[in-house]
Amino acid sequence: MCRFPSARRVLLLVVSAAVLGAAPAARAEGAARGVGGPADSSQDPPPSRIERVGRFFGGAAVAFGAHELGHLVFDVVFDAKPGIKKVSFQGVPFFAITHETGLSPRREFTISSAGFWVQQATSEWILTSRPGLRGERAPFLKGMLAFDVLASVAYSGAAFARGGPPERDTRAMAAALNVDERWVGALILAPAVLDAVRYFRPGARWAVWSSRGLKAGLVLLVLK
Ligand SMILES: [Zn+2]
Repeated sequence: MCRFPSARRVLLLVVSAAVLGAAPAARAEGAARGVGGPADSSQDPPPSRIERVGRFFGGAAVAFGAHELGHLVFDVVFDAKPGIKKVSFQGVPFFAITHETGLSPRREFTISSAGFWVQQATSEWILTSRPGLRGERAPFLKGMLAFDVLASVAYSGAAFARGGPPERDTRAMAAALNVDERWVGALILAPAVLDAVRYFRPGARWAVWSSRGLKAGLVLLVLK
């Protein structure tokens, strides 16, 4: 058993509460599946454009929180002393969840990859349970999926350029694996592109299985 100083437990609980607090929104869109479609028999008025935009960005914010929660969970599992550090990328202020140095490469890879694992698992859940999402009125889930895909594209761009804050996940993953960071960028980018293909072409089975294979491969690299 690990002993967690209370500050770390609080950090984990706050992020967990924020992410889990969004579950009702996702469930509500699940209940409203097909609303707005040709067979819609709901008596509720459709949400306003502002409400849809708000839900979309709410979904994106929750997906971001879920990414960070992935890091935090393993920080706590490995008792890696997580903290928050202000960073910036292309002039945009940001924050990064940091952890202590000196971990084994396997633990370092696990913590650094966990955000992508969560993103990819979330996208998989959304696209598997809602293959026709594009034609549905589900701005919250679309916001989550958009964040997952676009964040992966942005991370891979930083990896290819080998730029951005030194705390970036791809740099830590590459160092733990002892490979060129551009390989990690490719491994992050490919499933994101395939998931975008799945969103626009739900019938593309090749994209479904190649995306799942690559995601599983990223997790299995922990055994390297
Ligand atoms: Zn991250």
